[in-house]
Amino acid sequence: MANTIWTIEEFTCPGCGMNYTATREEHAEPHAGQFKCSICSGVVHAWSGKHHFFGWQAVKSKPAVFGRRWAGVQW
Ligand SMILES: [Zn+2]
Repeated sequence: MANTIWTIEEFTCPGCGMNYTATREEHAEPHAGQFKCSICSGVVHAWSGKHHFFGWQAVKSKPAVFGRRWAGVQW
């Protein structure tokens, strides 16, 4: 499709604080789903709407000093 837009978003597990990144894909039709933490099985993010999240990856470390740099990362 010509109008596929992917963006990377970052989420933090409300249960254990683990950080994850996921790729958000815009869709013309509604999707619903959720992602559960691989560590504590808590729901990190649930969504419904004209977008979908995939490619969940755990962020192994949380370098506080470098946290701000996420905003500038070129994917
Ligand atoms: Zn968790």
